[in-house]
Amino acid sequence: MLSAMSDRLVSSTASPDDDRFDRLFRPRSFDEYIGQAKHVDNLRVFVEAARRRGEPLDHMLLCGPPGLGKTTLAHILAKEMGVTLHGSSGPAIEHKGALAGLLTKLEPGDVLFIDEIHRLNVTVEESLYPAIESFEIDLMTGEGPYATTIQLALKPFCLIGATTRTGLLTAPLLSRFGYVMRLDFYPTDDLIQIVERSARLLEIPIDREGATEVAIRSRGTPRIANRLLRRVRDFAEVLGSGKIDAEIAKTTAERLDIDDEGLDSMDRRLLSVIIEHYDGGPVGIDALAAALSEPRDTLEDVYEPFLLQQGLLGRTSRGRIATRKAFHHLGKPAPQPDDGGDQGDLFDE
Ligand code: ADP
Repeated sequence: MLSAMSDRLVSSTASPDDDRFDRLFRPRSFDEYIGQAKHVDNLRVFVEAARRRGEPLDHMLLCGPPGLGKTTLAHILAKEMGVTLHGSSGPAIEHKGALAGLLTKLEPGDVLFIDEIHRLNVTVEESLYPAIESFEIDLMTGEGPYATTIQLALKPFCLIGATTRTGLLTAPLLSRFGYVMRLDFYPTDDLIQIVERSARLLEIPIDREGATEVAIRSRGTPRIANRLLRRVRDFAEVLGSGKIDAEIAKTTAERLDIDDEGLDSMDRRLLSVIIEHYDGGPVGIDALAAALSEPRDTLEDVYEPFLLQQGLLGRTSRGRIATRKAFHHLGKPAPQPDDGGDQGDLFDE
């Protein structure tokens, strides 16, 4: 379903236009990958250890909201190991045969990257277990009474799964990953560096203040920073001198209705619905999705993580609530501590 989300500048999922620029912007080595230092340091060690042993990397799961660099890391890992990455995604592997087709193509040490791994169907997921555990897969040959199962040996490989929703992964699949890495939203300083690097690649002049204005409106997400940078470039070339400075970055953000916390009209609508229709909440996620005419998954994957991280939205045992900070951000009077009623306990999923 095509929703309003696909048109959002601050949406963190990739658009066809992003795919084109992703090839240009995507860091190709650990040295080019900005931020997430703790994880990157660990990955460097794993690569070095696997190389010394002449073995494939251990299977890994990369978790985090879209646009934070999971696919980029998978490509870097394959490159640093000197192997080929074969990419697919959970929904694209529709049946066992398709999985077998992918697995039998792998050369020793290759990386199989499965994006949205939480969306694999049950049969495919179950046939993946022996493949990742002991590098073999059961295949059915023949039909009806002549059907037999043969066991096919695979070359040792490394599975890298990526997911925006670790909570939806089954326990048996989760337990088969040797390393689970959770990517965090990027701090402004890292995003400034990402914006400056991308501007260099696009060959557009930008000053530090201009990069900062782009960075603070990027919801902690490199993909959004790169997308906003391209829009600022349009405004700078048409309305300004071609150079990106704070003024043109701010003008662009105003024209695109992005505020200085990186929230766009849709985010503000989400918070307003909670505040105005539900007295600040709690409101169940399905009711919220219906009120906003957005799929529940989109709310949970794309809108909520950043609003939660910014402390604008809270998740309670009884539903979502707008925090005091959200009331303040939208210029609404915050409820007094004792008129909030019973909002339920704040909790993390
Ligand atoms: P995900 O797979 O998590 O959705 P991607 O790996 O596709 O995210 O990253 C989106 C884009 O953001 C990449 O093409 C790249 O240009 C940029 N990017 C992501 N992480 C970084 C980083 N750490 N340093 C520089 N650019 C990054």
